[in-house]
Amino acid sequence: MSFDIDRYFLTLALDEAEQALSENTYPIGAVIVDENYKLVSTGRNQVHPHHDATAHAEINAIRNAGQAILNAKVNREKFTIFTSLEPCPMCTGGILFANIKKVVWILNDDLGFGGYKKIKGANVFDNRFNEIEVIEEPYKDLKIRQQELMSKWEVNPNNIVNLRDALM
Ligand SMILES: [Zn+2]
Repeated sequence: MSFDIDRYFLTLALDEAEQALSENTYPIGAVIVDENYKLVSTGRNQVHPHHDATAHAEINAIRNAGQAILNAKVNREKFTIFTSLEPCPMCTGGILFANIKKVVWILNDDLGFGGYKKIKGANVFDNRFNEIEVIEEPYKDLKIRQQELMSKWEVNPNNIVNLRDALM
């Protein structure tokens, strides 16, 4: 049963990623749910529209969750974050600070700024990481959809490589 629930929320994260791309920024989306799978917040990358290098999808979702994150910490509720790409180092830190207990992502980011597995593999903050369940790339079709969004981002005028080329 939880299999289909994971799929449902990853699809919502993908919707946010598509929305981000339509706003000409990195196509990454995230949603946070409580332990009863009630939607707490959504987020998407807003680096370019907000001119903010830290406006990543996961950070955005954590910020949008507001007081609910703090209440969950107090009440030891187990929140889950679903994101379309493996979290970067900053968002991995945000997940630890938010005390999120399960992380599910659609696509690994071995060649980009994927940070979750690298930091976890460094054997630092083990007591925190050991409390967090991780599910990576559970659905091949959703993975392909995220890869397609990343390909479209490569040719977007706001991609840093393309912004540099435009200056030449
Ligand atoms: Zn990030």
